[in-house]
Order: sequence, then structure tokens, then C-alpha cells
Amino acid sequence: MVNRNRCEGKEPCVEVCPYDVFVIATLPTAERKNLSLIGKIKGYRHKWQQAFTPNADACQACGLCAAACPEKAITLRRA
Ligand code: SF4
Repeated sequence: MVNRNRCEGKEPCVEVCPYDVFVIATLPTAERKNLSLIGKIKGYRHKWQQAFTPNADACQACGLCAAACPEKAITLRRA
């Protein structure tokens, strides 16, 4: 799970994941209103680029992405 208030789209998750779970994309406008004030400021500064998990079913729960994220934005959870 990617914490929308923390992710800055820096891409280490994309680089470390062996299963191509992540892509970087633009946070949809409709989702921006749900962010905290800090999240909105971060989002604006980073052009709303964040990590998404279109291939989440491929996740093997290795934890590499959570360890690599400098914003501590990724947590693993059971489906
Ligand atoms: S925990 Fe899942 S999403 Fe994260 S790097 Fe490992 S396989 Fe990829």
C-alpha cells in the first residue's frame, strides 16, 4: 500500500521491485482533495507524481520496496 500523503514519486520502488509491481504516474485530480495539507504541498512540489501498483498481484512480499522508499510511504499488507 502506498501512503498518498508520503509518496513523492522518487522511483526507488520501481527500480528495486523484481516483479515490476510499480509504475510512476500522476495522482488523479479527484484523489488530491483527500490529501492532508502536507500531502498537498508535497504533491504540488512533485507535480503529483506518485507510485501506483497496477501489478500488485505479482507481489512476493519481499519487502525491498518498503526498505528502499526514502519517504517510508510503502507498507505491505495481506490481500
Ligand atoms: S514487496 Fe512486493 S512490491 Fe515490494 S519489492 Fe517485493 S515484490 Fe515488489
